Amino acid sequence: MSSIASTAGIVSFEQARRLVEQHAATVCPGEVEAVDLLAALGRVLAEGILADRDFPPFARATRDGYAVRAADLAEVPARLEVVGEVKAGDWPEPGVCSVGRGQAVGIMTGAPLPTGADAVVMVEHTSLTDQLAGQAVEVRRSASRGENFVPRGAEARAGQLLLDRGRRLDHAGIAIAASVGKSRVQVFRKPRVAVLSTGDEVVEIGATPGPAQIRNSNSYSLAAQVQNAGGEAVRLGIAPDERGRLRSLIEESLIEEGLDCDLLLLTGGVSMGKYDLVEQVLGELKAEVYFTGAEIQPGRPVVFGSCGAGALARADSDVAAGTRARAPAPHKKYFFGLPGNPVSTMVTFELFAQPMIEALAGMTPQRLIFLRARLKSEIRTKTGLKRFLPAVLLGEFENAEVELARWQGSGDIAALARANCYVVVPPDRERIEAGEWVSLLTRSC
Ligand code: AMP
Ligand code: MG
Repeated sequence: MSSIASTAGIVSFEQARRLVEQHAATVCPGEVEAVDLLAALGRVLAEGILADRDFPPFARATRDGYAVRAADLAEVPARLEVVGEVKAGDWPEPGVCSVGRGQAVGIMTGAPLPTGADAVVMVEHTSLTDQLAGQAVEVRRSASRGENFVPRGAEARAGQLLLDRGRRLDHAGIAIAASVGKSRVQVFRKPRVAVLSTGDEVVEIGATPGPAQIRNSNSYSLAAQVQNAGGEAVRLGIAPDERGRLRSLIEESLIEEGLDCDLLLLTGGVSMGKYDLVEQVLGELKAEVYFTGAEIQPGRPVVFGSCGAGALARADSDVAAGTRARAPAPHKKYFFGLPGNPVSTMVTFELFAQPMIEALAGMTPQRLIFLRARLKSEIRTKTGLKRFLPAVLLGEFENAEVELARWQGSGDIAALARANCYVVVPPDRERIEAGEWVSLLTRSC
């Protein structure tokens, strides 16, 4: 860990992201389990998937037409004798179905190329000259060797690695595993991610909120984002803005063995208010803090740190003092203190918590990439922070346009639900004209 700079202050977006990535590179995924192939969708491979034979396993025609010798078509039109037909699933035995000089074999897409042939001409460029017997074909176009078939093993050789360990399986990965006959695959256990909301005003979603209360939507948005990122969310409820209770709940989620969580996400209580106590409590728990804010908006007060040796020492002293009897954390646990404003919570999750969850899930690190689109209407903003502004991607096909969603600030979930991406505004831009290309953070769903 000594190679990772410990900043513990407010850092730029890029520094914050790098710090998370560096720490994420040090974590280990959980145990390995075997699951049925379709249940592995969205899971991370704990084994490499190898080609069980050559791909394709035979020279495979990619067009319907005639298997020919290219040299026979040096001059066209040419008339070839049709000596057979191979459809997909047939095996053209060399002695029985092969292409000699001046000959052609009818062939269908997906069928093996007969011996002697070195090209396939498309049926569109041919006509049968003896319709009734179908014994000769006139070919109007020449062909070059290798045309319209894929040689055996051109896609992959038997034994070759097709999908790496650490790859999250999407439908294409599922297709690869299926194509090599894996009906079950080895995947990493999903990391368990504790979600603890804080705030005296926050109530559970089944409750009827009092006039000054709001429902705990963050626990749910975070749980959904955790699931999307390949983790399993453990919702721990709501901690009040009261130091003692907050501390015992944070301690429980970091230390409690029964919970067995790999990461803690806190929401709320990280700003500068009198009752924003999360940082103070983490300090009491001797947490190691890597940053206490990032120069972004929304989400500036985001905190990233870990508890391990510090919390353990504290827990031991508490046990000695008879104030607690819980087993201490066996190893370091990372946490994020995400700002409570719902939009800030969602953005900071995507920017910082997601790569840590992916790493705990065993996934190979992914670079964060912003896409680009043209801005539909001008943006005016303040300089100093990198902004991630909720926006709607419009247009069609090659004409993508993006427009900011009208919103009332970081608490406006309704605006965020109407948006489908964030426009990324660099900290030095006060005004971006309509028609300029801007960066986008697409929202995963
Ligand atoms: P805080 O970060 O605690 O200062 O909270 C900032 C804003 O987010 C306040 O308006 C809170 O009421 C709101 N908020 C905090 N926690 C939640 C939550 N779990 N669900 C929805 N809104 C929240
Ligand atoms: Mg609060």
